Amino acid sequence: MPRGGARGTSKGIPSATVSRLITYLRVLNGLEANGLERVSSDLLASEAQVSAFQVRKDLAYFGTFGTRGTGYTVSNLRDELKRILGLTRQWRVAIVGMGRLGQALADYPGLVEYDFELVAAFDVDERKVGRGFGTVLVRALDELPSAVSELDIEMVFLTVPVRAAQAAADAVTGAGVKGILNFAPTVVSVPPDVRVENVDFLAALKRLSYFLHEDGVVPEDPAA
Ligand code: NAD
Repeated sequence: MPRGGARGTSKGIPSATVSRLITYLRVLNGLEANGLERVSSDLLASEAQVSAFQVRKDLAYFGTFGTRGTGYTVSNLRDELKRILGLTRQWRVAIVGMGRLGQALADYPGLVEYDFELVAAFDVDERKVGRGFGTVLVRALDELPSAVSELDIEMVFLTVPVRAAQAAADAVTGAGVKGILNFAPTVVSVPPDVRVENVDFLAALKRLSYFLHEDGVVPEDPAA
């Protein structure tokens, strides 16, 4: 089975472009909050820390949005980016693995702000089943297939230990869910019609270590 997350988009849009669109959307939301109505590709680029050429190239995949010389209307471009990113609708999300991370995510208010509605949570630990976290009660994992169809669950946050990740991913995809946000630091295999995005905080921490080390801004080994 292919490894989820490794392929680009089905329309041939580079995955890095999708990541930058998310950054542009964040920048546009900030500009709009500051009362700006129009933005040039130069300003959008500098706020997003990319080149203006990159902004124009990324947007050109999806059509023509701006007017040469006058730039983009902030609210129009924001709406277009939300539409392109599938963010004009609500997504119904469940958490599989209600340990420390699952519980923290269930409590996170930002999910609702961005139209990700947490509708269910699952765990194999009988002591957790029936308990409430945030807005949801924890269900037994074997209720997943019926809950997916009853509640229209479209995405799952996979927050189980590494050793349980593949089995839990199999249960999730077997129940018909097509999108997994995998927090377990391991690769899970999924059917070709399922998307996996991996969130690896330790990998980011190691990148930070690399860059601080490379910049030489910290002593070689402060403990030595
Ligand atoms: P935890 O041990 O506190 O919780 C794991 C939960 O998963 C437990 O409640 C357990 O009963 C449940 N579980 C085990 N097997 C299951 C299965 N098959 N189906 C459903 N539930 C199952 O662990 P944690 O600290 O919450 O971490 C969870 C995962 O997230 C780990 O893989 C950890 O490495 C990872 N993690 C990722 C990040 C990140 O940034 N991506 C940060 C911290 C932890």
